Amino acid sequence: MNNSYDVIVIGAGPAGYVAAIRCAQLGLATACVDDWLDNDGKPAPGGTCLNAGCIPSKSLLESSELYARLQHEAATRGIHAQEVSLDVAEMIAGKDRIVAELTGGIAALFKSHGVEWLSGRGQLLPGREVRISLHSGEQQTVGAKHVILAVGSTPVELDVVPLREDVIVDSTGALAWTSVPQRLGIIGAGVIGLELGSVWQRLGASVTLLEAQETFLAMADRQLADAALKLYRQQGLDIRLDARVKGTRETADGIEIAYQDGGDHAISVDRLVVAVGRRPCTEGLAAAEAELLLDERGFVHVDEFCETSLPGVHAIGDAVRGPMLAHKGSEEGIMVAERIAGQHSEVNYGAIASVIYTNPEIAWVGKTEDALKQAGIDYRSGVFPFAASGRARAMQATDGMVKVLSDAASDRVLGVHILGAGASELIGQAVLAMEFGASSEDIARTVFAHPTLSEALHEAALAIDNRAIHLGKPRRN
Ligand code: FAD
Ligand code: NAD
Repeated sequence: MNNSYDVIVIGAGPAGYVAAIRCAQLGLATACVDDWLDNDGKPAPGGTCLNAGCIPSKSLLESSELYARLQHEAATRGIHAQEVSLDVAEMIAGKDRIVAELTGGIAALFKSHGVEWLSGRGQLLPGREVRISLHSGEQQTVGAKHVILAVGSTPVELDVVPLREDVIVDSTGALAWTSVPQRLGIIGAGVIGLELGSVWQRLGASVTLLEAQETFLAMADRQLADAALKLYRQQGLDIRLDARVKGTRETADGIEIAYQDGGDHAISVDRLVVAVGRRPCTEGLAAAEAELLLDERGFVHVDEFCETSLPGVHAIGDAVRGPMLAHKGSEEGIMVAERIAGQHSEVNYGAIASVIYTNPEIAWVGKTEDALKQAGIDYRSGVFPFAASGRARAMQATDGMVKVLSDAASDRVLGVHILGAGASELIGQAVLAMEFGASSEDIARTVFAHPTLSEALHEAALAIDNRAIHLGKPRRN
């Protein structure tokens, strides 16, 4: 091992591994230390995203969706599948194989770019030194001209709901069950609650989500969130809002969850997921003498360029302010690497898409209508329902809509909100439009292939001026 690098990255999630690879591409001598071990105790770079987040959840969402479509949709298309059966253990093993391929891919990328990958725990010391406790048992202190902290986040726990292996679990546990619970409770109807609730509901569980807030998906556009809530409830997800959990206890009938929503209630479930948010992994990250500044919630304090309070030390990803999203962390990693190499680079925080991978999916970028109203910005809105899209009808995926919001004076696109099939892919077009500073007229004048779901984005832009072709009558803004 070298005892000095240009850059040491602590954490090999989507923020850290991307930063390390970009540093190496720019000719910087780079090491990346990460402490994740898989179920067999083997080092597995990729962080939460690859090991216990984005990828495993999307694998199970895809598998469970296929199962649900075979059961409920195939027959409506004249396909009669005999005896569709479910092997959850096999489904989970398939998900684990995908994860192993991808984490192995990161190790290979490190090798090919010459990033030195160290399996163990890193701690920041004063003067940009890092103490590394390797999983081999060895301890080393190495120095670097630059340190990038990319230590990510971990699930928030509730004091009143202690976890119990395989029964009361966090998201990681709920991605590993090899049987379907009959009655599943989920505390928190946020992104994880909805995605994992969808997985297990499609596989046959009866799912109840207890959400403390009165407002469903407070961060999303109200019109779409309300429409989504209705659809999820129709699908059978029992979503209870304004429900504050008081505690749990084991009874002969399973786990009893006591909650309040004006009155006192209790429900019994067989298994329970706690999905009430995530917190940064910054405890013990820096020695006290290093004097790294954290905010009151434990996030590393950074400016818009991810510079911390210490010269030469950057922090990126879930461990710093902003949305806890893989692509946000990765872009911060690229920005920091390029700035270390002396280039001009920045992240456009105004054009970062959010996606919830339910069915239908919800995706958005930019401002919601409520945010525009609160900011006193005069805007125009165009909405196009998927029910009027030929492709969506052919797909039997007519739920949802596209909404485009543009500045009333300049027509610049300020936000795009999509509820519907393929929203996670469609939103990329809106991100590109916003990144290029497009007007709604630019989208309206773009030729979209037919028949595609993208035409709904085109029509929503046309709807701003009441000229959507496939809407029966002009809509008032
Ligand atoms: P992490 O991915 O958490 O990686 C940090 C790494 O640093 C970990 O390997 C950790 O073990 C290691 N580490 C921590 N401390 C130390 C230390 N002192 N020394 C050495 N190593 C250390 N986001 C999306 O954008 N799309 C999705 O679809 C999505 N789905 C998700 C589904 C689930 C169930 C969950 C839980 C999260 C999901 N996320 C999703 C969020 C996404 O996983 C995170 O935003 C992302 O992983 C953050 O990347 P990161 O690199 O900052 O941190
Ligand atoms: P979240 O913030 O999305 O949702 C947590 C929910 O739990 C909130 O609605 C909150 O009001 C509720 N809650 C908090 N305390 C509660 C309590 N005591 N009782 C009942 N409800 C309570 O967080 P999450 O779903 O845990 O996800 C964590 C992070 O991971 C998110 O920030 C998200 O960005 C990221 N993530 C992203 C994706 C994606 O991009 N598709 C998927 C999963 C996770």
